[in-house]
Amino acid sequence: MTKYKITVIPGDGIGPEVTESACEVLKAVGRKSGHSFAYTEVAAGGAAIDSCGMPLPKETLRLAKESDAVLLGAVGGPKWDNLPGDARPEAALLGLRKGLGLFANLRLAVLFPELRDASPLRPDLVKDGVDILIVRELTGGIYFGKRGREKKVEKLEDGTPKGVEAFDVECYCEAEIERILRVGYNSAMQRNKHLTVVDKANILETSRLWRSVTEKISKEYPEVETDFMYVDNASMQLVRCPKQFDVIVTSNMFGDILSDEAGMITGSIGMLPSASLGVPGTPGMYEPVHGSAPDIAGKGIANPLATILSAAMMLRYSLGLPREGAKVEQAVSEVLAKGFRTADIVENRGDSFLGTKEITEKVIDEYEKL
Ligand code: NAD
Repeated sequence: MTKYKITVIPGDGIGPEVTESACEVLKAVGRKSGHSFAYTEVAAGGAAIDSCGMPLPKETLRLAKESDAVLLGAVGGPKWDNLPGDARPEAALLGLRKGLGLFANLRLAVLFPELRDASPLRPDLVKDGVDILIVRELTGGIYFGKRGREKKVEKLEDGTPKGVEAFDVECYCEAEIERILRVGYNSAMQRNKHLTVVDKANILETSRLWRSVTEKISKEYPEVETDFMYVDNASMQLVRCPKQFDVIVTSNMFGDILSDEAGMITGSIGMLPSASLGVPGTPGMYEPVHGSAPDIAGKGIANPLATILSAAMMLRYSLGLPREGAKVEQAVSEVLAKGFRTADIVENRGDSFLGTKEITEKVIDEYEKL
């Protein structure tokens, strides 16, 4: 039986409420599986600015690096909105990503059958459910490429002076593409063995390199069906027939955009988990997609399911306990099937709902039955 070291960063707003829920569920996993989880709680974001004067104290990063996995709630809030960029709570996220070498971001967009009505898509488009994993490259591409501005002396064809020109360079090397593809293929092997590389290979040279690296790596995963799709088509297909996707692997910018679109299909931000991973053997970071929801913080009504599902991803991807992860996911599904809801996912305004702690207890009850 293994003892896992988890660094917990509750953060701001509803962060402490939802991370507490996920830790309670992990404790139940420990009781049942015989493994144990040792939590070290540390500050980052607004909470760290208040207590230590900086968004990411060195000690937080040190402890995060020494753990098996990091569980993060959310950071930010109006109290710190007027601080300059690198002193803001959100700077902690960038520091953690960089410090932990997290190059892969995994976002699950699952439409639970019971929440089908929450989807903005027509019921016939989502009748078979949606279960997509978007694997986004997180530390390369245009967001990290050379950028700048230049005053141009040239003119447009019609003679208008160009004025200032700005540029952002998209750049990927084979090694970066290969390592993100491996995360995608290994995930596809645990899922429905279908991987779609989304790119713009009809125009971009970087996309053509993505394709040739994919052709090479795909040979190592003969069980996985690999296909390619242009990003413009992918954005249409996601709303036309989301069921066709299993795992999507894509670049930083395309993944940024498509993961929000896929998340929206599920209709509920309180249900979306995510994982950020580095090289195998180093700690991954797990967090809900939503922010700190200052409007409902401290009221005990936040939906903890995205964070609980993030903990399930942690079991699967960092702790080598995929069966326990699947059971946690099933427990969440059972809770929804029994009609339990938090305020954000009730069908009609005025319907009764459970608070953060109560729905967490329901998940634990269901988990214990599995
Ligand atoms: P938000 O996700 O915090 O909230 C958007 C809306 O969704 C709000 O009405 C909120 O009440 C609701 N909501 C979000 N999560 C919920 C949950 N679990 N249960 C029930 N309702 C939920 O986005 P925002 O309002 O744009 O941002 C608030 C703060 O969070 C900002 O400071 C922003 O910078 C920060 N933020 C942090 C992260 C992060 O830490 N990863 C991500 C996004 C935003």
